[in-house]
Amino acid sequence: MYKRQAPHSWGKLDAIERWISENPQAPQYWRNESRLQLAEGQLQFALEGSKGGASPEILSYRRSSALGGFESVLEDGSATQEQQHRARRGQRSANQALAASPAAATMQAPVKGLIPRSKWSAIRPNPRELTPASGRWRWITVHHSVFSSPSNDVESSLDTVRRIQREHVNGRKYGDVGYHFFIDRAGRVIEGRNLKWRGAHSGGSNNKGNVGICLLGNFDEEKPSPAALASLDRLVYEIQNVLKIPRKNVRPHKAWKETACPGLHLMPWFARR
Ligand SMILES: [Zn+2]
Repeated sequence: MYKRQAPHSWGKLDAIERWISENPQAPQYWRNESRLQLAEGQLQFALEGSKGGASPEILSYRRSSALGGFESVLEDGSATQEQQHRARRGQRSANQALAASPAAATMQAPVKGLIPRSKWSAIRPNPRELTPASGRWRWITVHHSVFSSPSNDVESSLDTVRRIQREHVNGRKYGDVGYHFFIDRAGRVIEGRNLKWRGAHSGGSNNKGNVGICLLGNFDEEKPSPAALASLDRLVYEIQNVLKIPRKNVRPHKAWKETACPGLHLMPWFARR
């Protein structure tokens, strides 16, 4: 539990936030002091809020904001040792709270009509091979599965998702399927790896804070269906909203590394967003 003295009110936090944005020229020492106070306050409220019934999205947002504040102090070369110490302590608490709380896990709840893992008899995740998600979610990366389902019916899609999970778990020795979400040709959204875990889809450290969405199909050879694109629009919109991810951080896999993924015919989707 985070022990630092709580600020008295949201009003006080608002005032600090305003002061930071209106005083970019203030001495760095005082800017860092203010960032720390703000982040500590946000974290405190987030931790208290988990008892008070605030919605998981709000709590997660507060924790993420707090974490961002601590990180900005750590990244500032002029922070004093004492400030760095406070920032590191805050970062640790915020990360622990994020990993331990059900908020990150229930992040999937707002997604309408999500087909849960239980429906496709997913293999249980192996926590020893997984990294808890920590820090802010900053990116959304879109992929294609390359092989597609033979038909549009739900069983065929779930079969494909099972096959991908088997390949990731048995073949690549991941702790779970690498993507957080799948979208099939009929536009169904299927739950993948829980958002409480970091994904495994964009290569090593690129996966940090990176939500992975995989569309079933090979979009070098076929066009994504209108239903799949409509679902992609909605899912990305919902994730962006809940996790506060800016539009420019929604990327194709090929923005991270040399790959054809997510396929030629899916690329126009990024341009017209
Ligand atoms: Zn990919």
